[in-house]
Amino acid sequence: MSKQPRIRVIGAGLSGCEASLQLASMGFEVDLYEMRPNIPTPAHRTSNMAELVCSNSFKGLGLNSAHGLMKNELRLLGSFLMQAAEVARVPAGESLSVDREQFSKEVERLIHSNPKITVHLQEVLSLAGDDRPTIVAAGPLCSSALADDMFSRLGQSRMHFFDAIAPVVDAESIDMNHAFWKNRWDKGTDPDFLNCPLNRATYEEFVRKLIEADAVEPKPFESRELFEGCLPVEEMARRGQDTLRFGPMRPVGLGEDPDTGRKWWAVIQLRAENSQRTLFNMVGFQTRLKWGSQKEIFSIVPALRNANFVRLGAMHRNTFIESPKLLDVHLRLKQNGSENGLPPTWFAGQITGAEGYTEAVATGLYAALNLANTLRRGAGIELPQGSCIRALVDHLTAPNPSFQPMNFNFGLLPRPADLPRKTDRKEFLGEQAQTAIRSWIANSR
Ligand SMILES: Cc1cc2nc3c(=O)[nH]c(=O)nc-3n(C[C@H](O)[C@H](O)[C@H](O)COP(=O)(O)OP(=O)(O)OC[C@H]3O[C@@H](n4cnc5c(N)ncnc54)[C@H](O)[C@@H]3O)c2cc1C
Repeated sequence: MSKQPRIRVIGAGLSGCEASLQLASMGFEVDLYEMRPNIPTPAHRTSNMAELVCSNSFKGLGLNSAHGLMKNELRLLGSFLMQAAEVARVPAGESLSVDREQFSKEVERLIHSNPKITVHLQEVLSLAGDDRPTIVAAGPLCSSALADDMFSRLGQSRMHFFDAIAPVVDAESIDMNHAFWKNRWDKGTDPDFLNCPLNRATYEEFVRKLIEADAVEPKPFESRELFEGCLPVEEMARRGQDTLRFGPMRPVGLGEDPDTGRKWWAVIQLRAENSQRTLFNMVGFQTRLKWGSQKEIFSIVPALRNANFVRLGAMHRNTFIESPKLLDVHLRLKQNGSENGLPPTWFAGQITGAEGYTEAVATGLYAALNLANTLRRGAGIELPQGSCIRALVDHLTAPNPSFQPMNFNFGLLPRPADLPRKTDRKEFLGEQAQTAIRSWIANSR
């Protein structure tokens, strides 16, 4: 058998670590490059691999949720990061949430204990000048040097959007006289969410202050370039008095206010950040407000009157490539070849426009399977129609003149034209996805 080339993976985030572990498990020697801690990013706070930059949740687990289905698919396909997430799991009702430190430690343990992976703590400055087949997994905060090099070689102008991260609160500073434990609709055995209710007057003051407060760098183009799936709370407040009450502050399934005997007016939910429950993430509370304003406004919430924030929200620019033009269905760069000096190149993670942690893991796994199959058998793999990863990749690579990053969702799954109206669509699509991936796995063994 001819000698296999070494593989270059750029970025030891979620997608790069999954891709490296997959390739190593298939017998490839991998050079994994990570620029932190030498070059920081505006959102990462540690030098850990696979750092979760905002929420500590991989979202829903149930097979009636899009992310639950995708995670199930990842498990069936042998995802290493999903195994690490199980090791670091913290109670969080129906979702897969992790202790982020423990999660990174587990991923690092898998990487460092694998003799086929060599880690290089250095920034990659260019895609060119290197023969090794490459997976670009440099994420939404890809270094400027690499992004400039990449976009100029791809003949494109830089694409980006803005999104924001949510604050984290020290548990000891939460006023438990004004907070209560409860999972929405009492799902799960133990309550995992700490709820901070607001009455109507407090909610209205809260919304007014959010609208009036100063945001960081309020540039005129920013609101056009915000990611709709992760809007800052002040932007939601601006869209209408009740937008937050129907969004992250919805009070449904959380019981009644004993003072009024009616449903709470609005509730902020906190989810444990770590297994000791010493830190809590404000669920859905990403914001780009100035830090002084954040502290002042959040202190209106009775339970957070004296809250100590170990991290405040912030806003970041996310880089992505125009995948429908540049990538084929295997996430491989169409235009690579000796004429432009690039090695065979695949892309994975959020830089492809696959928004979200689970999606980053999924595209990392998929790019690795494709690279391996191409080198060994001369062609990429094709996942079955109806499966979640196939649907996500189809979205990323189908012609789309107004392409924007997107989370995986049920709307991406194909449905037969003759699907009866009364069918439970989620149940149908979920069964279709599971059957498709299980039979693909059975046939590819
Ligand atoms: C601020 C912010 C908040 C987010 N919040 C959430 C959230 O709450 N939930 C969610 O599901 N998704 C969230 N996302 C989206 C996305 O899921 C994450 O960014 C995810 O980490 C993407 O995984 P990735 O592997 O593509 O990139 P990353 O995990 O960011 O990994 C990329 C790695 O590449 C390294 N790197 C970059 N350039 C170079 C270079 N030139 N050479 C070497 N190394 C390099 C980086 O240091 C980094 O470690 C958020 C994104 C951002 C930016």
